[in-house]
Amino acid sequence: MTEPNAERRVVVGGQTAPASALASALGGQAGTPRLVVADHAGRSGFLKRLLEGDAPTACGVVAVAAGAAFDGDLRRQLFVLAGLGIQPLAIAITGLGEGDAGRFAASSEAVRAALADLGAPMAIVPVAAGGAAVPTWHYGADLTATLRGSLGSGPLRLAVVGAATLGGQPAYRARVLSGSVAAGEGLVFSPSNRLAKVTAVTGEGESVVLHLDADPGVGAGEIASHEGSPPVETDVFIGHMVWLAAGGPVVERTYTLRRGNGDVAVRIQSVDSAAGEAIKATFRTGSLIALDPFERYPATGWFRLYDGAALAACGTMGMRGYADQRFLITVRATNIVRVEHAVSTELRARRNGHRSGVLWMTGLSGSGKSTISIEVEKRLFEKGYQVYVLDGDNVRHGLNSNLGFSPEDRAENIRRVGEVAALFARAGVIVLTAFISPYRSDRDRARAAFREGFHEIYVHADLETCEARDPKGLYKKARKGEIKDFTGISAPYEAPENPELGIDTGRYGVEDSVRMVVDYIDRHFALRVAA
Ligand code: ADP
Repeated sequence: MTEPNAERRVVVGGQTAPASALASALGGQAGTPRLVVADHAGRSGFLKRLLEGDAPTACGVVAVAAGAAFDGDLRRQLFVLAGLGIQPLAIAITGLGEGDAGRFAASSEAVRAALADLGAPMAIVPVAAGGAAVPTWHYGADLTATLRGSLGSGPLRLAVVGAATLGGQPAYRARVLSGSVAAGEGLVFSPSNRLAKVTAVTGEGESVVLHLDADPGVGAGEIASHEGSPPVETDVFIGHMVWLAAGGPVVERTYTLRRGNGDVAVRIQSVDSAAGEAIKATFRTGSLIALDPFERYPATGWFRLYDGAALAACGTMGMRGYADQRFLITVRATNIVRVEHAVSTELRARRNGHRSGVLWMTGLSGSGKSTISIEVEKRLFEKGYQVYVLDGDNVRHGLNSNLGFSPEDRAENIRRVGEVAALFARAGVIVLTAFISPYRSDRDRARAAFREGFHEIYVHADLETCEARDPKGLYKKARKGEIKDFTGISAPYEAPENPELGIDTGRYGVEDSVRMVVDYIDRHFALRVAA
């Protein structure tokens, strides 16, 4: 249904090999779709022609001469191609002869290493010297087959354009971004997470009308996919970009993220690395959006970034270290009605002589969360408070023993703790939680579970201090590579933006730190003076 156009332009980049060498390799074979080579070799012209978009472009090839370094310029060209949505992408290693299997292997390895953070989904294909036939030692697809083979492939991604009323039946106009759809198939819409079944598909080419069995009530910009291969849902992602605008990226500034399914406002949370125009930054959105990490689905994993009306950057989206939040918001149970308690939280507070709430400690491993919370619990208990500590390691032995440390499991760990803490708080207890909880999105969700009395406490000490303390020997293991995804070393920690209380344990000792929390609780929770 999403047949590629009969004629597609191939954009060719690369400095170390002439694009003309590829032209004969690509043009030499008959069949549809015909691949037309647009020779854009040469540095500034390459980018300019691409951005001006003088013809529809299907594929991109970046040529690298065998043995040449895969340098910054080539990397940049690949980012531009990916960021402009040009798919598929191939890297052609040129100038190979009959005895060159080893040279090809070495060059492929170097290219893969240079593109490791992109996930390197591109095909790496040998091209014989002079652009003639494929070397006889190569048993994989040649360049033409590679580019043709992946055209129109990928999982189903439909961008909802809008609702269409058709004789009372629910229907939606949509644009096909990748894959194909047929009657009888189940769809999930993202990020609303709603479901519907396709009864018929009409329209042609990229524009279709989906006739559905039930109205999911979704708006323009939602992505429809098959239930088994949905996009990620997240409010944070990593952008690998080529920065095009004058002046660099600005942290905290709001930009417009433009993709095949429309625009969304994004804020740069941090710039994580900047090597010339190649920028890696962490982005945040106001609510969950649906996206495909480029390393998984390159056809939809790209974006352009606008600063007002001006194109600021183009690049690819990554989720390294961040969780797919879809399953955290998926509600499976139906027909649930809340039961009202005859004993309210307010009544409990009056009897206890203090309000209840959640004191959510977040910070790096070794920052002091457990030490402080255990001591605070003791002091509050002695003062007559109803108080309980939920500690990371304890909870992982029971309630969360089936969870590991992948981003998804960490998010689920915190979701459960947030809900349990809220239950304790409704029961009248002051709950202290001691979890690294490195992700802002997870902490915000915990806050939402008991919004009326949630206090975020940032237990802060710099990485060197925490690493020097290393109370559980975890940093040592992480440095040796024995623990992967370790917060602060190989996984991100997102510091709170507006914590209710911050404690610098690098500066204050245990006694002072504990007193700060106890004082804070006396001030915010006591209804009558405790003993
Ligand atoms: P976390 O629970 O955050 O992983 P722990 O409480 O297990 O951290 O370990 C913190 C370590 O740092 C302990 O060995 C503790 O004695 C030490 N420490 C030093 N100063 C402080 C402080 N001001 N507050 C808490 N712990 C501190």
